[in-house]
Amino acid sequence: MRSVDVLIVGASLSGAAAAKRLVDAGLETIVIERKQLPRHKICSGILSPRGHRFLLENFGPLPPEVLHEPTSCRGVTFHFPCMVPMPMDFFGGTTPHLHRRYSDHWAIRQSGAEIHDQTSFVGLQDRGDHVMVSARSRGEPVEYRARQVIGADGPSSLVTRALYPDYPQSIPWFFVGQKFHRIIECPLDPQYFHFWFHPGLGHYTWSHARDGRQIVGVGFKRGDNFARKHRTVVDYLADKHGVRLEPEDDDDEGCGENFGPSLINRYVFGKGNVLITGQAAGFLNMIGEGMSCALHSGAISGEAVVEAGLRNRPVQDMYRRMIASEVRRTSDQWNPLKVAFERPHEADFPAALMALGWRDRAKVIRDIWNFLVLYKEFKWGRQILRAALQRPLIGGYSMQRWL
Ligand SMILES: Cc1cc2nc3c(=O)[nH]c(=O)nc-3n(C[C@H](O)[C@H](O)[C@H](O)COP(=O)(O)OP(=O)(O)OC[C@H]3O[C@@H](n4cnc5c(N)ncnc54)[C@H](O)[C@@H]3O)c2cc1C
Repeated sequence: MRSVDVLIVGASLSGAAAAKRLVDAGLETIVIERKQLPRHKICSGILSPRGHRFLLENFGPLPPEVLHEPTSCRGVTFHFPCMVPMPMDFFGGTTPHLHRRYSDHWAIRQSGAEIHDQTSFVGLQDRGDHVMVSARSRGEPVEYRARQVIGADGPSSLVTRALYPDYPQSIPWFFVGQKFHRIIECPLDPQYFHFWFHPGLGHYTWSHARDGRQIVGVGFKRGDNFARKHRTVVDYLADKHGVRLEPEDDDDEGCGENFGPSLINRYVFGKGNVLITGQAAGFLNMIGEGMSCALHSGAISGEAVVEAGLRNRPVQDMYRRMIASEVRRTSDQWNPLKVAFERPHEADFPAALMALGWRDRAKVIRDIWNFLVLYKEFKWGRQILRAALQRPLIGGYSMQRWL
């Protein structure tokens, strides 16, 4: 059995950021990762400028092999049924298009932590002054003893389930799937991530270029037919945007997403000596951007462990105080009042809207309203509005709703 200061579950970006803080503070840190590294991670890989700054400042310049082609992204283009495109450039220029298999591996190695891949978290017991963690490494049972554990194991976190077995049933879930197509002709600008606010397509529809292929992605409810949803989008792209694609390759993929805790302020941060961070804790920005908040929340979890040790304070108190700013930042992205008046995103939505002629602007506003309020499948649209109205513009986010 290995004894360490801190055990991190998950060798992703939140895990790498937490590990970096802990290793820098001189704490012996092991990261366990269930997959063999470098591992695949389903993701568009569009890093926000804030995430980019974090990587540069903490891990150094990005090596070329951690990027997809096109290697950068200028911003996001929103599309609507009225066919008025709304491109928005990121603040501060282009951002990297990360190849998650390699970027995450690079970041975790740069953290300096000891990495045990092909090692899956199974369960834990918090014994007050230490935590016993059971795992399986290449099929064999292994045990770790750690003063603290950080769950950085993503949306379907087993660490979260070990602490709160009922949590997954208490939050909204949805599924996303993407298929890859060779391109015959694609007028969609490859420098942008494209997103559709279109009730006829689904509540989460996106497309972008990657390594010579076009990704067509859809969000769907449990029980929906992914293939049919995807086909509807491909036909729409052909009909309305002149996108001509080969039939999909056979490496399509999908996963479940805990989409919504950041919208409804239902974060989960752990108990006792166990902290939860990254998407496992519920961090996900609007339109599914999760890398920047994974990096920042991960770093804060590591800092909380270090600070709690230095000040001899309970680590949970420390973490919850320190994470509040990241909660506010993430949840504000969902607040229409904040979007309209305070620019919580990393691209200027109000400016892009105002750049349209007044007729087009009216059409876009009508389409957004229809999508958020009238679209029956998108019940979160109504939650977004309700959440915004419940919170005053300058109001905070009650910690009482966190686990
Ligand atoms: C289709 C899609 C597109 C996306 N596009 C973007 C985008 O363009 N930009 C963006 O910013 N975000 C995007 N996201 C979101 C982003 O991928 C996540 O929010 C982000 O990766 C979360 O990071 P994390 O470190 O919290 O967890 P994850 O990246 O989910 O990593 C968790 C890690 O824990 C490991 N793990 C899980 N269970 C165990 C276990 N039992 N034992 C050991 N290890 C375990 C996993 O293998 C994984 O390595 C996208 C997500 C999807 C699904």
